[in-house]
This record gives sequence, structure tokens and C-alpha cells, in this order.
Amino acid sequence: MSEPENETSRPDAVEQARTRAEKMFRALPQEIHDLGRLFEDAGHELALVGGPVRDAILGRSSSDLDFTTSARPDDTEAILKRWGGTIWDMGRDFGTLGAQKAGVQVEITTYRSETYDPLSRKPEVSYGDTIDGDLSRRDFTVNAMAVRLPSLEFIDPFGGLEDLAHGLLRTPVRAEQSFSDDPLRMMRAVRFASQLGFEIEDATAAAVTQLAERIDIVSAERVRDELVKLINGAEPRRGLEQMVDLGLAEYVLPELPALRLERDEHHHHKDVYEHTLTVLEQAIDLETDADGPCPRPDFVLRFAALMHDIGKPDTRRFEKGGQVTFRFHEIVGARMTAKRMKQLRFDKDTTKAVTRLVELHLRFHGYADGEWTDSAVRRYVTDAGPVLQHLHRLTRADCTTRNKRKARRLASAYDDLERRIDELAQQEEIDAIRPDLDGRQIMEILDLAPGPVVGEAYKHMLEVRMDEGPLSQEEATERLRAWWRARSVD
Ligand code: ATP
Ligand code: MG
Repeated sequence: MSEPENETSRPDAVEQARTRAEKMFRALPQEIHDLGRLFEDAGHELALVGGPVRDAILGRSSSDLDFTTSARPDDTEAILKRWGGTIWDMGRDFGTLGAQKAGVQVEITTYRSETYDPLSRKPEVSYGDTIDGDLSRRDFTVNAMAVRLPSLEFIDPFGGLEDLAHGLLRTPVRAEQSFSDDPLRMMRAVRFASQLGFEIEDATAAAVTQLAERIDIVSAERVRDELVKLINGAEPRRGLEQMVDLGLAEYVLPELPALRLERDEHHHHKDVYEHTLTVLEQAIDLETDADGPCPRPDFVLRFAALMHDIGKPDTRRFEKGGQVTFRFHEIVGARMTAKRMKQLRFDKDTTKAVTRLVELHLRFHGYADGEWTDSAVRRYVTDAGPVLQHLHRLTRADCTTRNKRKARRLASAYDDLERRIDELAQQEEIDAIRPDLDGRQIMEILDLAPGPVVGEAYKHMLEVRMDEGPLSQEEATERLRAWWRARSVD
């Protein structure tokens, strides 16, 4: 299996990563090796770059195949035509073309060397001439590695492989420079902390703290996309904690750091921030496989878990007798959630789903105290509507008490509620059953005028339907006639 080991030095993490990567690069589809040769023949450089290189070294498959090239877009297009792929424009103004051949999809961008206008949101694009220059303007060293084609030469001018082996996020150039050039990179740092489970290197982290407020010049959509990837990542707690600790959350999601309420002098309530992160992790544990109702990663469930208590700081009251209450925090929280999601330009459906969950997250607690009437159960189901399955999970996750008895009591009360929801649903299905023939058809077939006999016949046909399930029209008509004959004989 493994390569023969050197006598003197055992292969360390870096070498292992390199070996693993080389194997994966050799295993790239033949179409990709062919494409590399076509670029070489045309006198241009082509290299796989960024995400797919990083993921290959981590031993993960990557859906995107991103390339960087010395060729300008017109030359790239000509080569892609020769390759025989379907070509589309990914943003020619930014130097990017997409293409596909035999199920292999590629994205090719001309080397860049940006110049930045410190007051503008978007970097200005200018083409560069060297791969090192292109790599130097990328966000992190682990994303600034490339593999040339067709030679498979590995290019790593900033020590990305080493950082990858140690799980570190570090900017290739000075962090302050990189983050003021494009402040979105600060969000990308916390996003990758969640996705990859990496640490942010000290100087890079310090630069985030220093420049956090500059995230405000970035468009809400770009920030939102990174936030979604963070929350859907493998370790959202890590990413969120970094976002809060480095001061970035203050600008992106201020409701989160605001949950760090000091405890009152009697230590009567728990730290809502810590509780929230635990609820998020517990909600993630309740996600399902792809064929279940909440396939992981379920952003709506995760974000609702994160936002469910954000109304607490604004509704906190210290009552006489030292009690702390948060009356109507679910209503206030739902309003705050809608506002924040609108600011982050989330679509209407997602916003509505998350907001509704925040608003309903407490409703169940009345159930644990005393059983609900059937109509209260039905109202719970109708109010939750399409997010009922999410609400089940959010409510169950929203229990972080260390008191095992209490936790068990809540869980079994929720089991009971779900059982009643099922029973009611079944009952409603039964109630919706109608006989195969309606009153008008019955009157027609038996040539009857309206009267109590029609009701009798209808009742009989309903019995038949309940006992035997649906029948064809002919069969039902036959059964009706049989009943009528037997009745006339009596
Ligand atoms: P994934 O696609 O898995 O989310 P990725 O690393 O491919 O991760 P993308 O957003 O697709 O991330 O970006 C592709 C590559 O472009 C990155 O690996 C990085 O090298 C570079 N990059 C993307 N955004 C920036 C940015 N804001 N500043 C600098 N480099 C960036
Ligand atoms: Mg990508």
C-alpha cells in the first residue's frame, strides 16, 4: 500500500499529504490531461488551482475543477474548441470561461494581478503573466497551491502544503494588506475554519480583529454566501466562535455576540450564547440522510437553532424575588430574525421558514405542563405548516439542561405530542373517506327521489368502502344494486 519509507526520516504529515495528492492528480480524468497537452502545444500554461488542489491533498473529492492559465480568454476559447467541449461564459470580463466534455466540467481563468481601489467593493481586474503572481493574490496559502498540466508539477510558493498539514489558515501576503484589498477574505477565514476545521494563524487572526469593520463595504450577498457555507460546514461552532471572538460577528450577525449576557448576581440563568451553540450542535445531530425530512446540512434548521433565542437580551426582566424572565422573546426574536435575514438578502421562503421556527420554538412547552386538546394539536401542525419536521427537531434540540430527569420528561412529552399528531392525521385521513358513489349517483342508479332511503344507501356504500377499500364504478354499482335487492326482499 504505502510507498517504501526512507531509512533515516519517516515520512511526516507534509510528505504524506504530497504523496496522497500526487496519486489523486495522476488519477484525474484523461480529458484533463488532454486539455493540459493542448494548452502546452499552443504555448500556454495551464494549472489546476485552489479548492480542488486543497481538497485532493486532504483526500476529499472536489466538485469544481478550477484552472488558471497564462492564455487570454480568446486563446482559451480557441483551445477549448479544439478540445471539443461545450463552452460557456462564466464571466469573460473577469477572464473566466467554463466548459464541459464527457461529463468533465472545467472552469478556466486567466492569471490575474489585481489592483484595488480601497473605497470600492469590487477588485478591478487586470491580467497577470505568472502563476506565482496569480497565487499571491489568493485568500489563503492552502488555497494558493497549483498543479501544472500536463507535467503534474506541484507549485506551492507560500508553504500551503505545510499549513494544510498543520490545519492553519494564513494569508500568502501580509494579512492586513490582503484583508484591506478584499475584506470578504475575513469571512472566508471563518468559513474555512468551519468547513475544514482549521485554526486561523495568529497574525491572520489579529488582522481580522483590526479590520473587522471593513466587512461593511462588502455586498450583503457575498457576505451571506460565506455565512451560509460556514453554517453548513462540518464545524459551525468553531467558525461562529471565531467570528464572535475576532469581532467580525459584531458587523455580520450582531445578535450572536449579544447573547453573551452577564449572569445576574444570583447566577439564575444560563449563558444564552453557550446554550445557543449547544442547541445548534444538537439540532445538527437530528438531521437526516438525503431521503429523510431534514437532509444534512439543513440550513433552515441550523440557522433557526442559532437565532431561536436572539430575542432574549431585549426582553430580559429581573422580577421581584430574583427571577429572570424573557417574556415574548420568541415574538421579538422572530421579528429580529426577519430583519437580519432581509438585510443579508436571504430569499423570502428561507426567511419565512426560519422566522416561523423562531416564533414557534416555545409553543410546545405548554404541552409538557398539561395535555392539549385535539384542536390545540391541530393548530400546532397548521401553524408549523411546511416546517413541522424542522420544528420537531428544533424543539427537541432546545433542551440543554443537565438535569437528566427533566430532559427525559421533556423528550417523552414530545414523543407523546408526535404520537398524537400521527393519530390525528390518520383519523383525518379516515374522516376524509367518501363512498365510491355519491348521493346523486345513488339516486340515479336506483331511480330514487331524495329521501331517507338515499341516506341508508349512502351509509351502506360507506361501510363497503371502509371494509374493502376503493372499488371500480361498475363494481360499486353492482354492490348497490345487490343491497337494494336484498332490502326489497326483507
Ligand atoms: P469551495 O468551492 O469548496 O467552496 P474554494 O476554495 O474552491 O472552495 P471558491 O470560492 O470556489 O472557493 O474560490 C476558488 C478559489 O479562488 C479559492 O480557492 C481561492 O484560491 C480563490 N479565491 C476565491 N475568493 C477569493 C477572494 N475573495 N480573495 C482571494 N482569493 C479568492
Ligand atoms: Mg470552488
